[in-house]
Amino acid sequence: MNEQISFIVDIQNIDLELLKFEESLKKINNEIDELRNGINLKKSEHEKLNEELAELNKKISGTEVEIQTFDDKLNKMKDTQKLIKTNKEYNALQKSIKDTEALKKKAEGELIMLAENHTALNDKINLIQKESEDLQLSLSSKDAELKNKEKEFELSKEDFLSRRETAKSKIKKNYLDIYETIKIRKGFPAIAPVLQSGACTGCYRMLPPQQFNELISENVFMQCPICSRILYIENVSQETGAEESSSSQKTSKKTSKTRV
Ligand SMILES: [Zn+2]
Repeated sequence: MNEQISFIVDIQNIDLELLKFEESLKKINNEIDELRNGINLKKSEHEKLNEELAELNKKISGTEVEIQTFDDKLNKMKDTQKLIKTNKEYNALQKSIKDTEALKKKAEGELIMLAENHTALNDKINLIQKESEDLQLSLSSKDAELKNKEKEFELSKEDFLSRRETAKSKIKKNYLDIYETIKIRKGFPAIAPVLQSGACTGCYRMLPPQQFNELISENVFMQCPICSRILYIENVSQETGAEESSSSQKTSKKTSKTRV
């Protein structure tokens, strides 16, 4: 392979390693944001349910007072009963007692219903509390994961950068400029292998046969006429169609080459 081309492949592999690191940091940061949002959501849900619970407690106390009032009234009426002289008075009082008992029964029914709601609401609050705690635990471990990853990144960054500087110093300035420009405009790959079929793996379009033949001579710096990516022919015999797996394979291969 053309030496310059192999240096550009090297710098791209280093840049891909850096990118992979940065992306994994970004991923963890996104997960942390999601967890924080989840926790905030649970928090506001929890607050809302607590307000509902306070309202329900008020209703329960009110109903209990109501039942007590009916009881007092019934006791009083039963005391009065002993002093009654006429049938008419007696019947009227009986009716009042019956009505009050019916009202008391209704209030007791309501109290049972409110108590059931209270239990259900409490269960809901406990569940949310638990979910919130689980999210909090996940957040703590994600935070720890991020710190580790950042530390790892910090430790290897110097190595990355010095390797990159070494690779960079070997590349002709105009080639490097082209590489950097394509990298910014198109993203990776900025330098792309050409398949045996003659297709550029950057855009998967076929190169004109003459250009392909010229490239096979391995002595030219060439850009794809369609996507502008820098082109090269891989030395390895096995061609892989899948761009991603092929580039990760190369990453390890070329990295070890750089270190030698
Ligand atoms: Zn192309």
